[in-house]
Amino acid sequence: METAEIRRRFLSFYESKGHTIVPSSPLVYDDPNLLFVNAGMVPFKPYFLGQQAPQWDRATSVQKCVRTGDIEEVGKTSRHGTFFQMNGNFSFGDYFKEGAIQFAWELITTSQDQGGYGLDADKIWPTVYEDDDEAYDLWHRMIGIPAERITRRGKLDNYWHMGVPGPGGPCSELYLDRGPEYGREGGPAVDEDRYLEFWNLVFMQYELSAVRAKDDFDIAAELPKKNIDTGMGLERMATLLQGVDNLYEIDEVYPVLDRAAELTGKKYGAHSGHAASESHPDDVRLRVVADHVRSSLMLIGDGVTPGNEGRGYVLRRMLRRAVRSMRLLGFDEPSLPLLLPVSVERMKQSYPELESGFDRISQIAYAEEEAFRRTLASGTTILDTAVARTKSSGGTTLAGDQAFALHDTYGFPIDLTLEMASEQGLEVDREGFTRLMQEQRDRAKADAKAKKGGHANTEVWKDLRALGATDWRAYQELTSEAKVVG
Ligand code: ATP
Ligand code: MG
Ligand code: MG
Ligand code: MG
Repeated sequence: METAEIRRRFLSFYESKGHTIVPSSPLVYDDPNLLFVNAGMVPFKPYFLGQQAPQWDRATSVQKCVRTGDIEEVGKTSRHGTFFQMNGNFSFGDYFKEGAIQFAWELITTSQDQGGYGLDADKIWPTVYEDDDEAYDLWHRMIGIPAERITRRGKLDNYWHMGVPGPGGPCSELYLDRGPEYGREGGPAVDEDRYLEFWNLVFMQYELSAVRAKDDFDIAAELPKKNIDTGMGLERMATLLQGVDNLYEIDEVYPVLDRAAELTGKKYGAHSGHAASESHPDDVRLRVVADHVRSSLMLIGDGVTPGNEGRGYVLRRMLRRAVRSMRLLGFDEPSLPLLLPVSVERMKQSYPELESGFDRISQIAYAEEEAFRRTLASGTTILDTAVARTKSSGGTTLAGDQAFALHDTYGFPIDLTLEMASEQGLEVDREGFTRLMQEQRDRAKADAKAKKGGHANTEVWKDLRALGATDWRAYQELTSEAKVVG
């Protein structure tokens, strides 16, 4: 089943159950805690927080999401994209656990001829929060799932809140057993590759008064109006229904991977079995290319442009990583003009605006690749020389001042230096680098103050900048902290 059809069925199923279809919000959303929308519920937050009254009791959407915190997983697991789409159904004080579970079960087990997804009921493994006997009983008694297939998990896995006082509650997740060729038996707690998570049902049930950590909070009261927030990974469902090994092989992603393999002369999958963790580096790179090209397309489509900070930096890093992966696979020509058109061809069915905006989108992407090629041309020799010198003097760590010079003079972001150094077996003195960056920033600040008599920094990213404008970890921390589902 094509991804576009999976999406269509989701929306029409929930529409038939009285939900209003709400269009996806753009990836860039007015929320100071988020770089990008990272879950279907984000645009509905004001309703869940009681700040606004929703126009409906029930809504459904397919929300575009980007999770920068998952970037390191891309290509290495079978299930993480930086961009993905989250199908969701939402109840605002209307149906609760029983309704959410019944709807979900009906949609996934109704046969494909009858408009459902036709999953094999015997292969579905739900998880529930350890104390949530109500959800357990609904799966066990109402749906009839044998006890041994229902896993109880703790707060880290099966509790949802926003990291601040406010609504929270237990979750129930759905996993499909893909069979012994994908890994060890024993359920989702044992092997998340064999048992693939595809849906998270959040039961917003309590008012939390204090939240100290993901798994440490106080419950103040039951919410007067209980809510449902679910998120089903569209690409995960496509992986399951298309019978492919992983997310990068579905219809919306694979054509780019395939084209990249053709351009680089690599035979994808020649070396790997099912276990994504044992993949050959070339296969991982091909998946990274396919993922990052698509994510870049979607980000530029939603108005992001490459830059050195915040969202622009995330986009820049993805574009550069795609380009560099192509080079590491042996392709030295400009690659985006050959890959981005393949991606838009696949995505335009669900997002026609990508086609009409493609001139603009592609110009931005191609210009970034050109600029990056120039950066690489000038900086690579310097880096190689520094690496050779370090090695010949018996060192294993590239000095911080060299990393800083590469950044300052040749525009090499620290991630690139880290990546390229580690490919040659060296570490980088990050502390030294960060210190020099900080000194430079302090000087700039002092200069600016001297000139203007000080100014207020109102940008959202100021905290990030304090951590280092090019520190990728900082983005990960920000986005994972703001993670809103699961
Ligand atoms: P995982 O444990 O696999 O990282 P998660 O528990 O972080 O997933 P949730 O926060 O529960 O994911 O998000 C709801 C659903 O969105 C998941 O059940 C999954 O289907 C989908 N999803 C989450 N992250 C990704 C991703 N990076 N790429 C594709 N789909 C995703
Ligand atoms: Mg995750
Ligand atoms: Mg989850
Ligand atoms: Mg999970």
